[in-house]
Amino acid sequence: MMILRKGTSSRSSKLIHGGLRYLEQFEFSLVRECLLERSYLLKNAPDLVQLKPVYIPVYKDSKRPPWMIYAGLSMYALLGSLSNDARFKTVPEHKWHQLHGLNVNNLYAVFQYYEAQTDDTLLTHAVMNSAQEYDAELLLSTKVNAIELQDDHGVLTCASKAETDKKITTKTIVNAAGPWASSVLEKVQPRQKTIAVSLYTQEAGNSIPLDGEVEYLLRAFSHYFQEFKQEQIHIKYQFSGLRVLPASEENTNQRSRETIYLRDRKTKPRLLSIFGGKLIAY
Ligand SMILES: Cc1cc2nc3c(=O)[nH]c(=O)nc-3n(C[C@H](O)[C@H](O)[C@H](O)COP(=O)(O)OP(=O)(O)OC[C@H]3O[C@@H](n4cnc5c(N)ncnc54)[C@H](O)[C@@H]3O)c2cc1C
Repeated sequence: MMILRKGTSSRSSKLIHGGLRYLEQFEFSLVRECLLERSYLLKNAPDLVQLKPVYIPVYKDSKRPPWMIYAGLSMYALLGSLSNDARFKTVPEHKWHQLHGLNVNNLYAVFQYYEAQTDDTLLTHAVMNSAQEYDAELLLSTKVNAIELQDDHGVLTCASKAETDKKITTKTIVNAAGPWASSVLEKVQPRQKTIAVSLYTQEAGNSIPLDGEVEYLLRAFSHYFQEFKQEQIHIKYQFSGLRVLPASEENTNQRSRETIYLRDRKTKPRLLSIFGGKLIAY
């Protein structure tokens, strides 16, 4: 079930990536899983997922030296069973000028590897179509307003333009409401425990980029492409998305991106809530 309000998926980078940077947090199984899922998608759904070359320039003052990037990319290739989409190469110096105006001052090395990218709308439609092939009934633009858990089933109360207070009785409910997962849990009777997540304090659908975030992106862009002066860059369109992360004192970059599953009870759960994770775990 879904409603048309645009969720995090439409505001993400839409990369079906192997999670190269998670190697720094030693999340090897997450990287392995991402690479494996990605290779299935590239094989089974080439119209939904395409490979894109990604370049990593390493400068004299870069935080990570070339040997570290080389080691990370080698580990990435190994976790991807050395398949063509997990391999990388070093871009020779005589080809640096082909990289769209990349700043070459104090440039030490450039590596190239592959990410894959999808279209979240097409991906969602493909999932909906295959659900229908298994006889799923889809209710579009329908909002869940209340959930009541009985001994062996749950009752959802939903509303759409056509019908208010529609009741659906089901054995199992999956709460996959992205950044709204906590607010959906609050609609459950009897009350259920939740997990602490860091979230925007306003309505999740209204998130906008903060001034500091825009400034950071412009600074990074004009650092790598020096012919574009920061003050000359004109922003045509901007958006932001909310990532569900477990609440912690740790820096957001350090926190796990693993999906967190919460069941209402250990055996025969009636309600499964999904927190965080990646688009690739669709
Ligand atoms: C900036 C950013 C970049 C990212 N980049 C990537 C990336 O490159 N690759 C990657 O794999 N992941 C990425 N992620 C993570 C990824 O986007 C999310 O993990 C994923 O989109 C979550 O999908 P979802 O379906 O769980 O949530 P959502 O896409 O948010 O969908 C939740 C849905 O639930 C609906 N809903 C809410 N409340 C109710 C209700 N009461 N009743 C009915 N429906 C309801 C919403 O309308 C929405 O349609 C990124 C995240 C962010 C924030």
